Amino acid sequence: MSDSGYDGPLRGERPAIELVNTRFADRGGVLVDGLADPGAVPPFLRAVLPDHDGPPPHLGALLALRGTVTSVLRASLAGTPLDSTAIAALNRTASRCPTSPLVVLTADGVPTAHVEHHGPRADVPLVRFAADAIDLLTGPARATLRACVAPGCVLLFLKDHPRRTWCSPACGNRARQARHYTRHRRAQPDRVPSTAQAASPGATRTSAGDEASIPEYRANVRAYDGV
Ligand SMILES: [Zn+2]
Repeated sequence: MSDSGYDGPLRGERPAIELVNTRFADRGGVLVDGLADPGAVPPFLRAVLPDHDGPPPHLGALLALRGTVTSVLRASLAGTPLDSTAIAALNRTASRCPTSPLVVLTADGVPTAHVEHHGPRADVPLVRFAADAIDLLTGPARATLRACVAPGCVLLFLKDHPRRTWCSPACGNRARQARHYTRHRRAQPDRVPSTAQAASPGATRTSAGDEASIPEYRANVRAYDGV
């Protein structure tokens, strides 16, 4: 059990991405639903929407929204047409709790801005996930949305560094180890010294083609898309 009480991966990404990432691959490459246990929802919400102090949303509604957000973000990543039914579902969810600006005075009398949601408090997380997904789809962050290229990983992230292709340092290490292993095996028949490979200036570089050639990655993406 993690400190948060939620056992799935948490990458400090935006809420909509963290929601999509609640379906992840374990160390064996098997897809896991981090929200399969309803008891995982409250700690997940505390981790990604820490200022939500209301009840958790209906699990079925949350899982349905996750499916919708996953489909539109994956389509955006793939550059394929967005499904109009999914977009309509996203818009419907976002409209459940209309918002208005609210000013709140601190104990010292300092005015601070808040957003008031009007509607069932349990629906507020749904609205916030949906609104974040809409902003991701339509704002500048869309251009930085990526899928992790580490073997077996299916998580999404926002690329905040020009050379970042992994959701986490751990995935970066696994990807480097996988490439090293692949290079070593390819080098064996020709008896190319591994030290020469390791000393290559391009040893730690990668390309989309190299990453996509990792069988486990392709298999997991296919399995993920089929969920
Ligand atoms: Zn990853």
